[in-house]
Amino acid sequence: MKKIISFFVAVLLVASMLTVGAFADETDVVTKVYGTTATAQPGETVTISFMISNNTGFDSTKMSVSAAAPLTVGEITRGLMSGGDVFNNIINHASGAPVTADGTLFSVSIKVAEDAQPGTYPVSLSVTRLNVNGESLTYKASGGAVVIPEVACEHDWQLTERVESSCTEAGYEIYTCSKCGETKRVDLKLAGHDYIINIKNDEYHTYDCKNCDKTFDENHDHIRYPGQFEDDDHWWCETCGWEKAKPENPTSPDPEEPVLGDIDSNVESQFNFGLVALIAVACGAAFAFKRKFVK
Ligand SMILES: [Zn+2]
Ligand SMILES: [Zn+2]
Ligand SMILES: [Zn+2]
Repeated sequence: MKKIISFFVAVLLVASMLTVGAFADETDVVTKVYGTTATAQPGETVTISFMISNNTGFDSTKMSVSAAAPLTVGEITRGLMSGGDVFNNIINHASGAPVTADGTLFSVSIKVAEDAQPGTYPVSLSVTRLNVNGESLTYKASGGAVVIPEVACEHDWQLTERVESSCTEAGYEIYTCSKCGETKRVDLKLAGHDYIINIKNDEYHTYDCKNCDKTFDENHDHIRYPGQFEDDDHWWCETCGWEKAKPENPTSPDPEEPVLGDIDSNVESQFNFGLVALIAVACGAAFAFKRKFVK
């Protein structure tokens, strides 16, 4: 029994080791050849490097680099690929001089056209098989790229829409850039009501908005109690221009029905009434005095 268990444990152990080994072979030992990415402005020249990593060693090989407008391939500078010539953007590496290091295979200067638009443009790489000692290597190759970033627009704002403010809602303006089409909104001030003042009656005037149906009343501002301003011979309103003759001795301000009359005769009648009352009181007092003390 122990022997059987030992056998199965051994089988499992070997199987797991094989699995790990196979996994490692597939992922870790692939040679990579790739280009870098550079950022450039229109009109600039930048350098793209082509690199090798996980290098298992190579000797004879041939690589070529190409790019389409707005990029132009310029001078090529050799790095690890040094054993052959460079012609027509093709870089050769002669056999018999194996390279095993990681690093820059070669680099290339890329000229960006003056009229280049923002975007990402490829710098392509073509690799004729990597081999060492006559045996092909497994490898992955990918190109580089030049990135032309979006440039900030020097906006040229044109008014393209205007909504006027109303009494209760603020309007706005829409401006559109004639170069890039970007829009922006500018809020306008709330207009508010624009009132005209109308005289309605002897009590109040009315504020009426010219632009909407908003309206409200307000009392005239120079309705005075009698005697408050002795010189005033009438009622008036500075706000609306309403005027009315001052009423005769009203007990309370009643601008709708002011009492009109002769001030002089009124004073006279007041005086006469007071005189009669005074005489009556005096007579009463004299009568009482006589009854009490003259017996
Ligand atoms: Zn713009
Ligand atoms: Zn209004
Ligand atoms: Zn008024």
